[in-house]
Amino acid sequence: SADSTLSVVVVGASGDLARKKIFPALFALFYEGMLVENFQIFGYARSKMDDEAFRDTIVETLTCRIDAGEDCGKKMDTFLSRCFYQQGQYDDATDFQRLDARLSVMEGSLCSNRMFYLSIPPKVFISAAANAADQCASRTGWNRCVVEKPFGHDSASSLELSQALGKHLQEDQIYRIDHYLGKELIENLTVLRFSNLIFEPLWSRKYIRNVQVIFSEDYGTEGRGGYFDEYGIIRDVIQNHLLQIVALFAMEPPVSLEAEDIRNEKVKVLRSMKPVEMEDVILGQYTKRVSKAHTYPGYLDDDTVPQNSITPTFAAVAMFINNARWDGVPFLLKAGKALNKRGAEIRVQFRHVPGHLYRSKFGADPDAATNELVIRIQPDEAMYLKINSKVPGLGLRIENSRLDLPFHEERDRELPDAYERLLLDVVNGDKRLFIRSDELEAAWDLFTPVLHKIEELQAQPELYPYGSRGPVGAHYLGAKYNVRWGDLSYSGNGSSK
Ligand code: NAP
Repeated sequence: SADSTLSVVVVGASGDLARKKIFPALFALFYEGMLVENFQIFGYARSKMDDEAFRDTIVETLTCRIDAGEDCGKKMDTFLSRCFYQQGQYDDATDFQRLDARLSVMEGSLCSNRMFYLSIPPKVFISAAANAADQCASRTGWNRCVVEKPFGHDSASSLELSQALGKHLQEDQIYRIDHYLGKELIENLTVLRFSNLIFEPLWSRKYIRNVQVIFSEDYGTEGRGGYFDEYGIIRDVIQNHLLQIVALFAMEPPVSLEAEDIRNEKVKVLRSMKPVEMEDVILGQYTKRVSKAHTYPGYLDDDTVPQNSITPTFAAVAMFINNARWDGVPFLLKAGKALNKRGAEIRVQFRHVPGHLYRSKFGADPDAATNELVIRIQPDEAMYLKINSKVPGLGLRIENSRLDLPFHEERDRELPDAYERLLLDVVNGDKRLFIRSDELEAAWDLFTPVLHKIEELQAQPELYPYGSRGPVGAHYLGAKYNVRWGDLSYSGNGSSK
């Protein structure tokens, strides 16, 4: 409103994430008229820059969603004129006091709300959070702090991090971001399920045979393997992004759409899950592939990766939920780098039709006739249901065809980026899509034992060539639970985020 002001402080403003995601998202919100009238954005980092130099670095990544001609340039100029830079150390209280002083001058006598976005490496996390909270908090409005993964690397370190943050911030001020939850189709997942009579009744072991959550990248670490190597694909993608999707997918209907009600259900389902067993995990690592035109480097060829690293760049995991709804239904999660395809999908395979009258029409493969719901999260969001229908014409030929819910064709505007939605939620104090500390704890409890086991055993990943379908072990894991992995359906060339 007119009598309040919003200050956004991006800590680590010189970094990759800030430039590629956070500033473009803030600009998009401004552009769409979603920010309050009075706002200022501060970049904070150690790099030496003045306001002008800072504006020059961020302007490169700002874009207007719709071709808006002159208007776009004007909006960009206005936006940039509200962007400022404060140089400082992450562990220096006086540097943060300087920031506070500058903020206070700009905010004037208005009620000031402050959002801090910590986009910095984990080792400077706590000191930056402490300084932001203790030296730089608004005294008149709210203070909220967005934190990025990794939220620790196992149960103990995650708890330590939560406790350390807890010394300076209240739980309701902490926004743990998982940008997957801001994706259009993930939000749509709950709409699909809870607002359509035809889906919710099918959402159980009675009709669903297995659920697959697949994340695939068609490029490797490409010189940025340093961070990745310390974490590996399970911590980087599966324990957080994919598990969050499972929790949203499988939770019981929440009492309401309020954040606490939704998060209560997510915690419940996570706590009903069985910790992952070593024999239900397949690990892989990509190797060099030489084709006529190009040499694709292996993971170990990346100079930022330690020699002989056994960090998995691929993992497939089978998980189970021990509750009445999902007892016995395998949830198969798979994620990998340098595979043949790029994309992320949820695939729900339904049971076979009992006493199927038309079975003989589908040949020997019983799976050929089953219904499958595919939710493509990225790229090129889509949702479709595989159903059987008769091929028009004489005779009786049956085909498995798609009932499609296209997203781009029907709507002429581009979808907002996940970071936009999530940043807007922070401004509005909506915590539905952020991770509560007990959720995080439950998520770590599922993976910590097996992660420790993998480290203890020095488990060797199965090697797979760059650009392949990944290690064959994943197929054995599927077969163990009667699951045939679906193939990612996307074949276009949209951008992957
Ligand atoms: P980044 O570029 O490596 O780091 C951000 C900034 O932090 C740098 O510009 C640098 O700024 C400062 N910094 C880097 N190394 C430091 C060190 N050793 N000690 C103190 N300061 C250091 O990271 P990012 O890719 O932007 O990611 C930011 C955060 O988001 C990280 O916590 C990362 O784990 C998380 N994250 C990133 C992504 C992504 O897509 N990039 C995805 C998920 C999570 P100054 O030198 O100017 O101070």
